[in-house]
Amino acid sequence: MYVCSIGKAKVRKQLGLAVITQHQIPSLYIHIPFCISKCIYCDFNSIVTKSQMVDEYLTAIEQELQSTTGKHSFRTVFIGGGTPTALNETQLDRLLNMIAKHVDVPSLKEYTIEVNPGTLSNEKAVIMKNNHVDRISIGIQSFNDRYLKLLGRIHSANEAKDIYFNLREKGFKNISIDLIYGYPAQAINEWKKDLRECCKLDTEHISAYCLTYEQGTPIVEMTDSGTLNKLNEEEELKMYEFTNDFLCDNDYNHYEISNFAKRGKECLHNTVYWENREYIGIGAGAFSYVNGERYCNIKSVKEYISSSRSKKRLICFSEKLPQKQRASEILIMALRMTSGISKKEFTQRSGFDLNELFEKQLNNLTQAGLINFDDERVRLTRKGLSVADSVMMEFV
Ligand code: SF4
Repeated sequence: MYVCSIGKAKVRKQLGLAVITQHQIPSLYIHIPFCISKCIYCDFNSIVTKSQMVDEYLTAIEQELQSTTGKHSFRTVFIGGGTPTALNETQLDRLLNMIAKHVDVPSLKEYTIEVNPGTLSNEKAVIMKNNHVDRISIGIQSFNDRYLKLLGRIHSANEAKDIYFNLREKGFKNISIDLIYGYPAQAINEWKKDLRECCKLDTEHISAYCLTYEQGTPIVEMTDSGTLNKLNEEEELKMYEFTNDFLCDNDYNHYEISNFAKRGKECLHNTVYWENREYIGIGAGAFSYVNGERYCNIKSVKEYISSSRSKKRLICFSEKLPQKQRASEILIMALRMTSGISKKEFTQRSGFDLNELFEKQLNNLTQAGLINFDDERVRLTRKGLSVADSVMMEFV
C-alpha cells in the first residue's frame, strides 16, 4: 500500500561544515538562522532576530568561511534560512562582502538568496544587486491574506507582489517563488487561484510544497486539539496533480517532485543535493557532504557562536555511509528528479550495478506502475511521483 506523501521535505534543511580539501566542491550553502517571528508550521533551524546576536553570528560564520572555503572554486552559492533579509542593511552588506572575500563571486553560475517579502527594503535589494546576487527565492507561500495570517506570515499578498515587481525593476532576471498548499480548510479552488496569480507574475521558477505537520510546531498542537482540521490525503493529492498539470500547461518544466522551472532555469544549487554531489555548509546546524562523509554543525545559534569564539570544534556529528547505503541514497535522491538516473550514471556514482542491487524492488515497482525502468534509465511515473516517499522507502 503506497500512501500519499507529496514532496514534503524542504530540501534546504541541509546546511554544513567541511574539512578543507583541494578538489572542486560544486556548492556552498550559508545558513542565516534569524526570522522576525516564527511561522506556525516551521521547524527549520531559526530563532527570532536579536540584532546584537546577528553581529556575533556574522563574525562566527566569517571565521568558518575562512577556515573551510579557501582554494575552492564553487559553482553555486545559496544563502538560506531562516530569513537572510531579516538582517539589517549594514549586516546584509557585511555578509555579502565577507562572502566575496572568500568566494570568486563573478565566476559563480548561480548566486541565490532567500527573501521574505516582509523584510526586504529598497536598499537591501540594491545591496544584493551590487554584490552580484543573481537569483532570488521569495517565500510568498500564498496569495490569500487569510491563509498568510493563519500561517503566521509577516506580509500580505499585495506586499509580496510589490516586492516581486521591485526586484524586477532592480534588474533581477531569475526569481523563484515558494508556495505552500494543503492548509487546513483550504479548498482546491483557492489553490488554483494561487497558482493562477503566481503564473501571472511570469516568474522563472516555482517551488510548490504540500504543507507538512512537523512535531513540536504550533500547527500540530492546533490540529491535535481540534482547533484546525487537516485536509485529507485525497484532497492533497488532487491539489498536487492539478499543480503538475497547470504548471506544465503554463510552460514550466516539472523537474523535481515539488519544483518547476522555465527551460534552463532549474535550480543548479538544489540539483547538487538531488544528484548527491558535494557541498559545504556554513553556519549553525549546517550540513556538509565532502569525500563521502557528511558533517553537521552545532545547531544552537548561541552555542555555535560561543564555540566559534573559543575556537572549539563546530562539528557535532559526522558519518561516512557504508557503500550500499550510499548507493541507496544516490538512487533515492535521483528519483526526486523527474529525469531519474541512467544505469550508467548510477554505476559511476555508486560503484554498483542497479539491476543487481535492487532487482526485486525495481520489478515490483515497475509492475505497480510506480517507476519506469528501461534499458537506459529509471524514473518515477506520474503515479509514482504522487506517492514518492513511499516508493523511496523500498530502497532504504
Ligand atoms: S520565515 Fe521561514 S524560516 Fe522563518 S519562521 Fe517562517 S517558515 Fe520558518
